[in-house]
Amino acid sequence: MSWLNALVRPEILALKPYQPAAWNPGFTRLHANEWPRRLLHDETEAGLNQYPEPQPQALVARLAHLYRVDESRIVIGRGSDELIDLLVRAFCRANRDALLVCPPTFGMYSVAAHIQGAAIVSIPLIAAEGFALDWQRVLQSCATNPVKLVFLCSPNNPTGNLLHESHVLAIVEELRGRALVVVDEAYIEFSSRPSLAAKLVEYPNLAILRTLSKAHGLAGARVGALIADPQVIGVIRKLIAPYAIPQLTLEAVLSLLSPLHLRDHSTRMRELQQERARMMAALRGLSCVRQVYPSEANFLLARFKDASWALASATKARLLVRDARSYAALEDGIRITVGAQEQNDRLLEAWR
Ligand SMILES: *Cc1c(COP(=O)(O)O)cnc(C)c1O
Repeated sequence: MSWLNALVRPEILALKPYQPAAWNPGFTRLHANEWPRRLLHDETEAGLNQYPEPQPQALVARLAHLYRVDESRIVIGRGSDELIDLLVRAFCRANRDALLVCPPTFGMYSVAAHIQGAAIVSIPLIAAEGFALDWQRVLQSCATNPVKLVFLCSPNNPTGNLLHESHVLAIVEELRGRALVVVDEAYIEFSSRPSLAAKLVEYPNLAILRTLSKAHGLAGARVGALIADPQVIGVIRKLIAPYAIPQLTLEAVLSLLSPLHLRDHSTRMRELQQERARMMAALRGLSCVRQVYPSEANFLLARFKDASWALASATKARLLVRDARSYAALEDGIRITVGAQEQNDRLLEAWR
Protein backbone atom coordinates (compact mmCIF):
# COMPACT_ATOMS: atom_id res chain seq x y z
CA MET A 1 0.00 0.00 0.00
CA SER A 2 3.08 2.22 0.24
CA TRP A 3 2.88 3.94 -3.16
CA LEU A 4 -0.66 5.00 -2.40
CA ASN A 5 0.18 6.21 1.13
CA ALA A 6 2.60 8.68 -0.39
CA LEU A 7 -0.07 10.08 -2.71
CA VAL A 8 -3.22 10.26 -0.61
CA ARG A 9 -3.74 13.26 1.71
CA PRO A 10 -2.60 12.24 5.22
CA GLU A 11 -5.93 13.45 6.69
CA ILE A 12 -7.75 11.04 4.43
CA LEU A 13 -5.44 8.15 5.31
CA ALA A 14 -6.12 8.84 8.99
CA LEU A 15 -9.85 9.42 8.50
CA LYS A 16 -12.20 7.12 10.37
CA PRO A 17 -15.14 6.94 7.94
CA TYR A 18 -18.76 7.45 9.01
CA GLN A 19 -20.40 4.14 9.86
CA PRO A 20 -23.74 3.92 8.04
CA ALA A 21 -26.54 1.99 9.70
CA ALA A 22 -25.87 -1.73 9.22
CA TRP A 23 -27.42 -3.17 6.07
CA ASN A 24 -29.35 -6.36 6.75
CA PRO A 25 -32.58 -6.62 4.78
CA GLY A 26 -33.78 -9.64 6.74
CA PHE A 27 -33.96 -7.64 9.98
CA THR A 28 -36.44 -5.07 11.29
CA ARG A 29 -34.80 -1.64 11.23
CA LEU A 30 -34.88 0.08 14.59
CA HIS A 31 -31.38 1.51 14.22
CA ALA A 32 -31.60 4.36 11.67
CA ASN A 33 -34.40 6.59 12.99
CA GLU A 34 -36.48 6.10 9.86
CA TRP A 35 -40.28 6.24 9.63
CA PRO A 36 -41.45 2.65 10.25
CA ARG A 37 -43.91 2.34 7.33
CA ARG A 38 -43.87 3.23 3.67
CA LEU A 39 -46.12 6.07 2.45
CA LEU A 40 -49.50 5.30 0.94
CA HIS A 41 -48.51 5.56 -2.75
CA ASP A 42 -44.89 4.51 -2.44
CA GLU A 43 -44.53 1.89 -5.19
CA THR A 44 -40.79 1.29 -4.78
CA GLU A 45 -39.50 -2.15 -4.00
CA ALA A 46 -37.71 -1.26 -0.78
CA GLY A 47 -39.85 1.63 0.43
CA LEU A 48 -38.55 5.20 0.36
CA ASN A 49 -39.04 5.49 4.11
CA GLN A 50 -35.78 3.52 4.46
CA TYR A 51 -32.25 4.61 3.72
CA PRO A 52 -30.83 2.86 0.67
CA GLU A 53 -28.02 0.31 0.76
CA PRO A 54 -24.60 2.03 0.79
CA GLN A 55 -22.80 1.05 -2.48
CA PRO A 56 -25.70 -1.24 -3.46
CA GLN A 57 -24.27 -4.70 -4.12
CA ALA A 58 -26.63 -5.49 -7.00
CA LEU A 59 -25.61 -2.34 -8.89
CA VAL A 60 -21.91 -2.86 -8.18
CA ALA A 61 -22.23 -6.38 -9.58
CA ARG A 62 -24.18 -5.16 -12.62
CA LEU A 63 -21.61 -2.48 -13.47
CA ALA A 64 -18.66 -4.80 -12.80
CA HIS A 65 -20.19 -7.20 -15.31
CA LEU A 66 -20.94 -4.42 -17.81
CA TYR A 67 -17.39 -3.04 -17.62
CA ARG A 68 -15.76 -6.50 -17.32
CA VAL A 69 -13.85 -5.80 -14.11
CA ASP A 70 -13.79 -7.33 -10.66
CA GLU A 71 -16.28 -5.92 -8.14
CA SER A 72 -13.41 -4.91 -5.86
CA ARG A 73 -12.30 -2.44 -8.54
CA ILE A 74 -15.50 -0.36 -8.64
CA VAL A 75 -17.00 2.48 -6.66
CA ILE A 76 -20.30 4.01 -7.81
CA GLY A 77 -21.02 7.72 -7.52
CA ARG A 78 -23.69 10.26 -8.42
CA GLY A 79 -22.36 10.57 -11.94
CA SER A 80 -18.66 10.59 -12.69
CA ASP A 81 -18.75 14.27 -11.67
CA GLU A 82 -18.94 13.23 -8.02
CA LEU A 83 -16.05 10.81 -8.46
CA ILE A 84 -13.88 13.51 -10.04
CA ASP A 85 -14.56 15.69 -7.01
CA LEU A 86 -13.76 12.87 -4.56
CA LEU A 87 -10.51 11.99 -6.34
CA VAL A 88 -9.32 15.58 -6.07
CA ARG A 89 -10.33 15.80 -2.42
CA ALA A 90 -8.58 12.50 -1.61
CA PHE A 91 -5.30 13.23 -3.37
CA CYS A 92 -4.67 16.99 -3.46
CA ARG A 93 -3.68 18.97 -0.38
CA ALA A 94 -4.98 22.55 -0.63
CA ASN A 95 -2.32 25.08 -1.62
CA ARG A 96 0.31 22.35 -2.02
CA ASP A 97 -0.59 19.71 -4.58
CA ALA A 98 -1.57 20.00 -8.21
CA LEU A 99 -3.54 18.15 -10.82
CA LEU A 100 -2.73 18.16 -14.50
CA VAL A 101 -5.23 18.74 -17.32
CA CYS A 102 -4.85 18.87 -21.10
CA PRO A 103 -7.12 21.59 -22.55
CA PRO A 104 -9.33 22.02 -24.40
CA THR A 105 -11.06 19.41 -22.24
CA PHE A 106 -13.94 18.72 -19.84
CA GLY A 107 -14.31 21.60 -17.37
CA MET A 108 -15.10 19.61 -14.21
CA TYR A 109 -11.46 18.68 -13.50
CA SER A 110 -10.50 22.33 -13.07
CA VAL A 111 -13.67 23.17 -11.15
CA ALA A 112 -12.91 20.36 -8.69
CA ALA A 113 -9.34 21.68 -8.37
CA HIS A 114 -10.58 25.19 -7.57
CA ILE A 115 -13.04 23.87 -4.99
CA GLN A 116 -10.29 21.92 -3.26
CA GLY A 117 -7.68 24.67 -3.56
CA ALA A 118 -5.40 22.49 -5.68
CA ALA A 119 -3.13 24.00 -8.32
CA ILE A 120 -3.80 23.28 -12.00
CA VAL A 121 -0.98 22.40 -14.37
CA SER A 122 -2.18 22.84 -17.92
CA ILE A 123 -0.52 21.13 -20.89
CA PRO A 124 -2.60 21.84 -24.03
CA LEU A 125 -3.40 19.11 -26.54
CA ILE A 126 -1.64 19.64 -29.86
CA ALA A 127 -4.33 21.14 -32.11
CA ALA A 128 -2.23 20.76 -35.26
CA GLU A 129 -1.99 17.00 -34.61
CA GLY A 130 -5.70 16.38 -34.16
CA PHE A 131 -5.58 17.35 -30.46
CA ALA A 132 -3.03 14.66 -29.61
CA LEU A 133 -1.49 14.40 -26.15
CA ASP A 134 1.76 16.29 -25.68
CA TRP A 135 2.85 13.35 -23.53
CA GLN A 136 6.50 14.34 -23.22
CA ARG A 137 5.58 17.78 -21.91
CA VAL A 138 3.08 16.16 -19.55
CA LEU A 139 5.91 14.06 -18.11
CA GLN A 140 8.29 17.02 -17.90
CA SER A 141 5.67 19.01 -15.96
CA CYS A 142 5.06 16.13 -13.58
CA ALA A 143 8.79 16.02 -12.84
CA THR A 144 8.87 19.66 -11.73
CA ASN A 145 5.40 20.09 -10.13
CA PRO A 146 3.71 18.29 -7.21
CA VAL A 147 1.18 16.65 -9.55
CA LYS A 148 -0.88 13.96 -7.80
CA LEU A 149 -3.55 13.43 -10.45
CA VAL A 150 -3.44 13.53 -14.24
CA PHE A 151 -6.85 13.81 -15.92
CA LEU A 152 -7.00 12.54 -19.51
CA CYS A 153 -10.27 12.45 -21.41
CA SER A 154 -10.58 9.91 -24.22
CA PRO A 155 -12.54 10.41 -26.42
CA ASN A 156 -11.95 14.00 -25.41
CA ASN A 157 -14.75 16.47 -24.73
CA PRO A 158 -15.13 18.87 -26.63
CA THR A 159 -12.75 17.82 -29.44
CA GLY A 160 -14.11 14.29 -29.98
CA ASN A 161 -10.79 12.53 -30.64
CA LEU A 162 -9.37 9.49 -28.88
CA LEU A 163 -6.00 9.93 -27.21
CA HIS A 164 -3.36 7.51 -28.52
CA GLU A 165 -3.22 4.53 -26.20
CA SER A 166 0.59 4.41 -26.46
CA HIS A 167 0.81 8.05 -25.26
CA VAL A 168 -1.55 7.42 -22.36
CA LEU A 169 0.30 4.27 -21.30
CA ALA A 170 3.67 6.01 -21.58
CA ILE A 171 2.41 8.55 -19.04
CA VAL A 172 0.96 5.88 -16.76
CA GLU A 173 4.16 3.83 -16.89
CA GLU A 174 6.45 6.77 -16.19
CA LEU A 175 4.31 8.07 -13.31
CA ARG A 176 4.02 4.66 -11.63
CA GLY A 177 4.09 5.27 -7.88
CA ARG A 178 4.18 9.05 -8.40
CA ALA A 179 0.71 10.03 -9.58
CA LEU A 180 -2.68 8.53 -10.36
CA VAL A 181 -3.62 8.82 -14.04
CA VAL A 182 -7.39 9.11 -14.46
CA VAL A 183 -8.71 8.34 -17.94
CA ASP A 184 -12.25 9.64 -18.39
CA GLU A 185 -14.01 7.30 -20.82
CA ALA A 186 -17.45 8.93 -20.72
CA TYR A 187 -17.75 8.52 -24.52
CA ILE A 188 -15.77 5.32 -25.13
CA GLU A 189 -18.86 3.33 -26.20
CA PHE A 190 -19.24 5.59 -29.26
CA SER A 191 -15.64 5.02 -30.36
CA SER A 192 -13.81 2.37 -32.30
CA ARG A 193 -11.58 1.40 -29.36
CA PRO A 194 -12.06 -0.76 -26.28
CA SER A 195 -11.81 0.61 -22.75
CA LEU A 196 -8.40 0.78 -21.10
CA ALA A 197 -9.89 -1.16 -18.18
CA ALA A 198 -8.07 -4.28 -19.36
CA LYS A 199 -4.77 -2.54 -18.45
CA LEU A 200 -5.69 -1.97 -14.80
CA VAL A 201 -4.08 -5.17 -13.61
CA GLU A 202 -0.74 -4.12 -15.12
CA TYR A 203 -0.89 -0.51 -13.91
CA PRO A 204 -2.06 0.14 -10.33
CA ASN A 205 -1.76 3.91 -10.87
CA LEU A 206 -4.31 3.87 -13.72
CA ALA A 207 -7.94 4.76 -12.97
CA ILE A 208 -10.89 4.90 -15.33
CA LEU A 209 -14.13 6.85 -15.20
CA ARG A 210 -17.27 5.45 -16.83
CA THR A 211 -20.80 6.78 -16.82
CA LEU A 212 -24.34 5.66 -17.62
CA SER A 213 -25.14 9.24 -18.69
CA LYS A 214 -24.22 9.07 -22.36
CA ALA A 215 -24.34 5.77 -24.27
CA HIS A 216 -26.76 4.13 -21.81
CA GLY A 217 -29.32 6.93 -21.92
CA LEU A 218 -29.49 7.40 -18.13
CA ALA A 219 -28.18 10.94 -17.53
CA GLY A 220 -31.13 11.69 -15.26
CA ALA A 221 -30.36 8.74 -13.00
CA ARG A 222 -26.91 10.11 -12.04
CA VAL A 223 -24.72 7.03 -12.00
CA GLY A 224 -21.02 6.92 -12.75
CA ALA A 225 -18.24 4.55 -11.81
CA LEU A 226 -14.60 4.82 -10.90
CA ILE A 227 -12.67 1.71 -11.86
CA ALA A 228 -9.23 1.36 -10.31
CA ASP A 229 -6.90 -0.62 -8.07
CA PRO A 230 -8.88 -1.99 -5.07
CA GLN A 231 -6.75 0.15 -2.74
CA VAL A 232 -7.69 3.33 -4.61
CA ILE A 233 -11.33 2.21 -4.50
CA GLY A 234 -10.97 1.72 -0.74
CA VAL A 235 -9.80 5.32 -0.33
CA ILE A 236 -12.72 6.75 -2.33
CA ARG A 237 -15.21 4.55 -0.45
CA LYS A 238 -13.98 6.18 2.76
CA LEU A 239 -14.92 9.61 1.40
CA ILE A 240 -18.14 9.03 -0.46
CA ALA A 241 -21.45 10.06 1.12
CA PRO A 242 -22.85 7.12 3.14
CA TYR A 243 -26.02 6.82 1.03
CA ALA A 244 -24.77 8.16 -2.30
CA ILE A 245 -27.12 6.22 -4.60
CA PRO A 246 -30.81 7.07 -4.08
CA GLN A 247 -33.22 4.12 -3.95
CA LEU A 248 -35.22 5.50 -6.92
CA THR A 249 -32.07 5.56 -9.02
CA LEU A 250 -31.05 2.08 -7.92
CA GLU A 251 -34.38 0.49 -8.80
CA ALA A 252 -34.70 2.37 -12.09
CA VAL A 253 -31.19 1.50 -13.24
CA LEU A 254 -31.44 -2.18 -12.29
CA SER A 255 -34.65 -2.43 -14.27
CA LEU A 256 -33.64 -0.30 -17.30
CA LEU A 257 -30.12 -1.68 -17.70
CA SER A 258 -31.81 -4.93 -18.63
CA PRO A 259 -30.48 -7.79 -20.77
CA LEU A 260 -32.77 -6.47 -23.53
CA HIS A 261 -31.23 -2.99 -23.39
CA LEU A 262 -27.73 -4.46 -23.39
CA ARG A 263 -28.52 -6.82 -26.25
CA ASP A 264 -29.38 -3.80 -28.44
CA HIS A 265 -26.38 -1.79 -27.30
CA SER A 266 -24.10 -2.39 -30.28
CA THR A 267 -26.97 -1.77 -32.72
CA ARG A 268 -27.71 1.56 -31.08
CA MET A 269 -24.02 2.53 -31.13
CA ARG A 270 -23.82 1.66 -34.82
CA GLU A 271 -26.91 3.76 -35.59
CA LEU A 272 -25.48 6.70 -33.67
CA GLN A 273 -22.18 6.37 -35.55
CA GLN A 274 -24.05 6.38 -38.86
CA GLU A 275 -26.00 9.48 -37.90
CA ARG A 276 -22.76 11.09 -36.75
CA ALA A 277 -21.21 10.42 -40.16
CA ARG A 278 -24.28 11.82 -41.91
CA MET A 279 -24.19 14.99 -39.77
CA MET A 280 -20.47 15.41 -40.31
CA ALA A 281 -20.87 15.30 -44.08
CA ALA A 282 -23.91 17.59 -43.99
CA LEU A 283 -22.17 20.15 -41.77
CA ARG A 284 -19.11 20.08 -44.01
CA GLY A 285 -21.41 20.96 -46.90
CA LEU A 286 -22.71 24.14 -45.22
CA SER A 287 -21.26 27.44 -46.37
CA CYS A 288 -21.28 28.85 -42.80
CA VAL A 289 -19.01 26.03 -41.54
CA ARG A 290 -15.23 26.31 -41.77
CA GLN A 291 -14.25 22.95 -40.32
CA VAL A 292 -15.72 19.86 -38.68
CA TYR A 293 -13.39 17.68 -36.65
CA PRO A 294 -13.60 13.88 -36.85
CA SER A 295 -15.36 12.46 -33.80
CA GLU A 296 -15.26 9.23 -31.80
CA ALA A 297 -17.99 10.50 -29.47
CA ASN A 298 -21.70 11.41 -29.75
CA PHE A 299 -20.99 15.03 -30.61
CA LEU A 300 -19.23 17.00 -33.32
CA LEU A 301 -17.00 20.01 -32.89
CA ALA A 302 -17.34 22.50 -35.74
CA ARG A 303 -15.75 25.86 -36.47
CA PHE A 304 -17.84 28.57 -38.06
CA LYS A 305 -17.15 31.62 -40.18
CA ASP A 306 -19.42 33.49 -37.78
CA ALA A 307 -20.09 31.49 -34.62
CA SER A 308 -22.32 34.23 -33.10
CA TRP A 309 -24.58 34.07 -36.13
CA ALA A 310 -24.70 30.26 -35.94
CA LEU A 311 -25.58 30.34 -32.23
CA ALA A 312 -28.29 32.95 -32.81
CA SER A 313 -29.76 30.94 -35.70
CA ALA A 314 -29.93 27.82 -33.57
CA THR A 315 -31.59 29.74 -30.75
CA LYS A 316 -34.17 31.18 -33.16
CA ALA A 317 -35.07 27.63 -34.16
CA ARG A 318 -35.34 26.73 -30.44
CA LEU A 319 -32.33 24.43 -30.59
CA LEU A 320 -29.55 24.38 -27.99
CA VAL A 321 -25.98 23.75 -29.08
CA ARG A 322 -22.86 24.23 -26.97
CA ASP A 323 -20.91 27.45 -27.36
CA ALA A 324 -17.28 26.25 -27.34
CA ARG A 325 -15.71 29.66 -27.99
CA SER A 326 -14.34 29.97 -24.47
CA TYR A 327 -12.02 26.97 -24.96
CA ALA A 328 -8.43 27.83 -25.81
CA ALA A 329 -7.81 27.58 -29.59
CA LEU A 330 -11.53 27.23 -30.37
CA GLU A 331 -12.63 30.88 -30.68
CA ASP A 332 -15.17 30.01 -33.40
CA GLY A 333 -16.17 26.57 -32.12
CA ILE A 334 -19.57 25.06 -31.43
CA ARG A 335 -20.12 21.57 -30.03
CA ILE A 336 -23.14 19.80 -31.45
CA THR A 337 -24.64 16.69 -29.86
CA VAL A 338 -25.66 14.09 -32.42
CA GLY A 339 -29.40 13.91 -31.80
CA ALA A 340 -32.19 11.99 -33.47
CA GLN A 341 -32.33 12.37 -37.25
CA GLU A 342 -35.26 14.80 -37.28
CA GLN A 343 -33.61 16.96 -34.57
CA ASN A 344 -30.38 17.09 -36.55
CA ASP A 345 -32.30 17.99 -39.70
CA ARG A 346 -33.88 20.95 -37.94
CA LEU A 347 -30.42 22.20 -36.98
CA LEU A 348 -29.11 21.81 -40.51
CA GLU A 349 -32.16 23.70 -41.80
CA ALA A 350 -31.47 26.58 -39.39
CA TRP A 351 -27.91 26.84 -40.68
CA ARG A 352 -28.77 26.50 -44.38
C1 LIG B 1 -20.68 13.94 -19.72
C2 LIG B 1 -19.35 13.69 -19.18
C3 LIG B 1 -19.17 12.99 -18.01
C4 LIG B 1 -20.32 12.36 -17.31
O1 LIG B 1 -20.64 12.97 -16.15
P1 LIG B 1 -21.76 12.29 -15.23
O2 LIG B 1 -21.58 13.04 -13.96
O3 LIG B 1 -21.42 10.85 -15.11
O4 LIG B 1 -23.07 12.51 -15.89
C5 LIG B 1 -17.88 12.75 -17.55
N1 LIG B 1 -16.83 13.19 -18.24
C6 LIG B 1 -16.96 13.85 -19.39
C7 LIG B 1 -15.77 14.24 -20.15
C8 LIG B 1 -18.22 14.14 -19.88
O5 LIG B 1 -18.34 14.83 -21.02
